[in-house]
Amino acid sequence: MARFGLLALVAWASSCGGRTLEIAREKSGPAAVVAPAPAPRAPPPVDATVLGPESLPALTAPTPWNPEADVDRAGILAEGAEGSGEIVLTFDDGPAAETTLEVLRILDAHKVKGAFFLTGRRLAGDGVVSEMNRGVARAIVAAGHTIGNHALDHLAVNRKDAAWNAFQIEESARLISEATAQPVHYFRPPYGKVGPAAQQLLAARRDELVMWTIDAQDTKETDPERLTRRLIAQIVFAGQGVVLLHDLRGSSVRALSLLLDWLERHPRDPATGTGYGVVDLPTYLAHAAARPWPYATRLQLYHAREKQHALERPRRPRRAPALAAAS
Ligand SMILES: [Zn+2]
Repeated sequence: MARFGLLALVAWASSCGGRTLEIAREKSGPAAVVAPAPAPRAPPPVDATVLGPESLPALTAPTPWNPEADVDRAGILAEGAEGSGEIVLTFDDGPAAETTLEVLRILDAHKVKGAFFLTGRRLAGDGVVSEMNRGVARAIVAAGHTIGNHALDHLAVNRKDAAWNAFQIEESARLISEATAQPVHYFRPPYGKVGPAAQQLLAARRDELVMWTIDAQDTKETDPERLTRRLIAQIVFAGQGVVLLHDLRGSSVRALSLLLDWLERHPRDPATGTGYGVVDLPTYLAHAAARPWPYATRLQLYHAREKQHALERPRRPRRAPALAAAS
């Protein structure tokens, strides 16, 4: 990419991802000064993509809702609190300058927070793209989203070699932390696979293993409307869930926008228990843990859910609602 293109992107990033930092001021005692002090001026907006990581606010480490990093437990937690209508938006495989920044702009426009699981290798090295990706990672954190680890090389951490798994997880976490000055305590396994050695390591690190439930296969499907209809159908069927999208893909970014439009037209109504609300990942997991499902595995839950839907609608096939007529 030409240097001009990089500069333009960084400038654009600062306009949509930058946050104003609050400066703590010491309280002064009773003043003997006669002349009134000039009105304090607002600090200039912070450009998250060019400032160092030390300028960013610290996030607290998550509560270990799944302290043993058990895959079944992670799967059940991802199913959420039953009937809550809570939706979490998660983005894997980034960051990427153009598409991730567009995702940040869309989330900001809808005033919702998401979770980004970064692939460490994209942040490594001295190249222009790596430097730009590190800036995007800082912009994600500066905008208040959750940041997580998606392994160094996007490989399944299910090998017997404990050292190999550890390198994939820990080197990636180190690169993300270095870029953002944040501890990384959420881990999403590539392909959803976690072997016993990786599980032990994640438990020792107190990392929260984060799975997903709403998946429209956006790495294969490129039609945004079809993607969105699939996402909506799954959301309606489950009642709540963790949406998986990939922020490297333009079609997924467009689908995100369509999905958020639909969710806004179907807001949560506590009186009737209908509709949906987007929540951040820690909130979703905390509510899921507080209202546990009476099933040990997802398979048991799916069987129960299928049975329930069959009872409710004995003869009607389930169809995705049309986007245009959905409001
Ligand atoms: Zn992935």
